[in-house]
Amino acid sequence: MAADEYHAKWSPSGAAGWSTCVGKIAMEDGLDDQPSSYADEGTAAHTVATWCFEQTTDAAAFAGRYVPIRPGVTVEVDDEMVEYVQAYVDAIRQYAGEKPESPFDFEHELNVEQDVPIDHITGEDGATGRADAWILTADGEELQVHDLKYGRGEPVSAEGNLQLLMYASGALRVAELLGAEPKHVRMVIHQVRTSGPDEWVIPIHELQERISYLRVGAARSYDAYECRATWIGTPGEADYLNPSEKGCRWCKAKATCSALRDVVVQTVFQSLPATPEEFDDLTADTPAVVPQQSAPSAWLASSMEKVGLVEDWCKAVRAETERRLLAGEKVPGYKLVQGRKPARKWADAEQAEQAMKSMRLKADEMYTKKVISPTVAEKVLAPTPRRWKKLEALIVQGEPPLSVAPQNDQRQAVEVKPVIEEFDDLTTEAPNVDDLI
Ligand code: SF4
Repeated sequence: MAADEYHAKWSPSGAAGWSTCVGKIAMEDGLDDQPSSYADEGTAAHTVATWCFEQTTDAAAFAGRYVPIRPGVTVEVDDEMVEYVQAYVDAIRQYAGEKPESPFDFEHELNVEQDVPIDHITGEDGATGRADAWILTADGEELQVHDLKYGRGEPVSAEGNLQLLMYASGALRVAELLGAEPKHVRMVIHQVRTSGPDEWVIPIHELQERISYLRVGAARSYDAYECRATWIGTPGEADYLNPSEKGCRWCKAKATCSALRDVVVQTVFQSLPATPEEFDDLTADTPAVVPQQSAPSAWLASSMEKVGLVEDWCKAVRAETERRLLAGEKVPGYKLVQGRKPARKWADAEQAEQAMKSMRLKADEMYTKKVISPTVAEKVLAPTPRRWKKLEALIVQGEPPLSVAPQNDQRQAVEVKPVIEEFDDLTTEAPNVDDLI
């Protein structure tokens, strides 16, 4: 994760960006991170996981606690967070070889939230990255690197993941300092809210080869950063910029990047129908709209490839406009207005509770009770499996909703019959009623 990488400009979490767009770090220079509730939630989940390891306990122990994120911002550990963080913690304990006779004691060497060196890759003095967890097996043969992803977005694959490669290379350096010589590295992404652990195993020499490519990308990005005053804002800017969905996703310069804006504009115009018969009257004031059914699937697919990039750009432009208005800057044609009032809450809950007691309100009038979630119940009843079995029978879990994913997504495709095949063929001659009698 990346609560780490505030020391590192060329961070592992940004590697997909700076290795594909050499100008990214230069373009981001001086721009602040924009806080987001998703990022805060992820930080809270990582913190709870770390507490579990540090305090040798389970996530349920922190249910209802508030995790401090930054001054004035906390995130509540709700049932959902307890469940998903526990899934991650359980998985790490398994990978570390938890001993059944002595829980929280591991066969292999487990390191949690440890800073590992990355300066040998990026050339940035003293830079480190914080690996969520890394493990050296007891026989010294396998190095494991684990990364918790708390997002609900599209699944992130371990294979080819540059962030994991950088953590692995850093952890390898630490392991080698301790005298270990692992033969291979197992990199695992734990995207707990969308799927189970996703693994990628490669021999150490392949890790080294891949890191040397990354080193070249970092050096090019470093050079572009050093001479940024000579190209940013000039006609040659585009030579340093390379928009792509993966690369631009977390770029802080997205809203103001000329190259990305050009790609979005081109994409939107190229997405208009290509064949003359698909056009309506081009002299009309409003552009022709292709009726949904007439759009060829190939045309839809090529547009779909760019949807993520365009959506990310739209969100970034909206956020930057809001940021500038909130800072008192003018954005022509836009202003701030008051939204809906938020829900009412007690200024001081304890004071309100005392006041209600003095009014002699009954307990069931004053308090709302909520039954514990299946995850918390499972922990509570762990010492009495028979009672848990009874309760387990009362759990239901809905089917996950269907969503669109690219063909190379690792999940199995769900086959859906075209609606037309569900009907009988009504064009065949109707049977003679007399024959049926
Ligand atoms: S938005 Fe994309 S193209 Fe522009 S600087 Fe960032 S990574 Fe590069």
